[in-house]
Amino acid sequence: HAVVHWFKCDLRTKDNKALHLASEKAKAHGVPLICIYIVSPQDFKAHVTSAVRVDFILRTLEVLKQDLARLDIPLYVETVEIRKSIPSRIFELCEKWGASHLFANKEYEVDELRREARMVREGLRKGIALSVEPDTCVVAPGELKSGSGTQYSVYSPWFRAWMSYLHTHPHHLDLYPPPASNPPSTRNDHKELFDTPIPQAPANKSLTDEERKRFSSLWPPGEEEANERLAKFLQYRVEAYKDKRNFPAANATAVVSLHLAAGTLSARTAVASARSANSTKKLDGGNPGIAGWISEVAWRDFYKHVLTHWPFICMNKSYKPEYTNIEWRYDTEQFEAWCQGRTGFPFIDAGMRQLNHTGYMHNRARMAVASFLAKDLLIDWRMGERYFMEHLIDGDFASNNGGWGFSASSGVDPQPYFRIFNPTLQSERFDPDGEYIRKWVPELEDVKGKAIHDPFNRGGKVKGGYPKPMVVHKESRDRALQRYKEGLGRD
Ligand code: FAD
Repeated sequence: HAVVHWFKCDLRTKDNKALHLASEKAKAHGVPLICIYIVSPQDFKAHVTSAVRVDFILRTLEVLKQDLARLDIPLYVETVEIRKSIPSRIFELCEKWGASHLFANKEYEVDELRREARMVREGLRKGIALSVEPDTCVVAPGELKSGSGTQYSVYSPWFRAWMSYLHTHPHHLDLYPPPASNPPSTRNDHKELFDTPIPQAPANKSLTDEERKRFSSLWPPGEEEANERLAKFLQYRVEAYKDKRNFPAANATAVVSLHLAAGTLSARTAVASARSANSTKKLDGGNPGIAGWISEVAWRDFYKHVLTHWPFICMNKSYKPEYTNIEWRYDTEQFEAWCQGRTGFPFIDAGMRQLNHTGYMHNRARMAVASFLAKDLLIDWRMGERYFMEHLIDGDFASNNGGWGFSASSGVDPQPYFRIFNPTLQSERFDPDGEYIRKWVPELEDVKGKAIHDPFNRGGKVKGGYPKPMVVHKESRDRALQRYKEGLGRD
């Protein structure tokens, strides 16, 4: 009597593969489409989903519920405390609604892959066919193999393979139409599903009133907002992307990562729209800003391919096992100073404060703060990885783990261990006028000229008890080189 679509990280109606297929199936069987989303506090805890991200998801669900209701499709949202009970509860609901088909898009984290494999088998026993569709990546994990038949662990050859795959399989960039409307009678038949409200955030993920207001005004929810943001970026700012993307003060990136993480924007739509905006109508060539942007969106695919192929990285293990032997420092005071943006290195502090205030941080700053933690402070990078997940609105396991692995040199295609960012030089290069720093570190707003990059050593006028640099970079660099060499067994 119904077909069910289970929403997860795909909170949109447009270009959603499983939702589209569910709608087609419902039409073919002449039954309504019912959508569900399960809120699981234990799941949020297990995935270290930040409170700001949970808030964004719940606000998005409000919008999605309205968007679907316009098509007479109900979105039923229920809280299931215990993570393990999610599959049985979903089957119970399917049975209650008489649904013999359940659709969902695939997630590639190891727990989810295992859960869904079990659910497919369980569904077979119950007479409920579960289809799990590849949707979140432009090119699905498993599709690209190197010449020797293995998974690539280096981005450049992988990206060439990604590009040539899309040239030979252009239909992978065809977009899926939104679901068709249900018969209007669905409103009466499933009135309670239309009427059920979206739950509040669970206690372990709630925000203060001030935070909720701040994040709501910074990050409006919903797919329309996501598509508008993308369209504006492609219309007005993508030209300058190649030259300015590394400058945090320049507002030169799309800031759509939160939408890709929540699924309010599909990666396919992002890449296909960039292609249409390109003068060549191709993925490469033409406008260098567009080609460059597409290659950045591809990094997201790359890290999901890596995650799928080497699932042990989900279990707190380094991609490169030899990095397990590095002796990390667990200095809680220094870690806390890093978290609060009180290291005394202005560029690092600006990044951390942007994160704490907005739930977002510019990519260049992410690389700088990660390198600072793992190398200058020699603190276990997994503590930083976790702090990021606890605070990012775009927290995504694969990209976050990939980014940290790059910076700590322990991941796929990393920065070599002996390449250690100098936090002051990063600041001089990527925030030459100190605009980003002055925005996020008000104690330094009166510091003039180049002193902004290193106020204590350059006689800058700091206020409000801004701390002295917590390390001397040259010394901490030597310490890092030595510890990394020892851990790796190198001379
Ligand atoms: P744009 O520059 O406009 O790029 C467009 C999209 O491409 C992004 O939204 C993102 O989906 C993708 N992308 C761009 N750069 C990268 C990259 N280096 N790796 C993977 N995808 C990329 N990104 C996340 O989405 N979630 C995370 O949890 C996350 N953690 C990170 C942690 C560290 C230590 C580092 C160095 C990077 C991390 N990134 C993460 C990648 C990157 O910083 C963000 O995707 C980017 O800053 C988002 O801003 P944007 O949408 O304006 O990006």
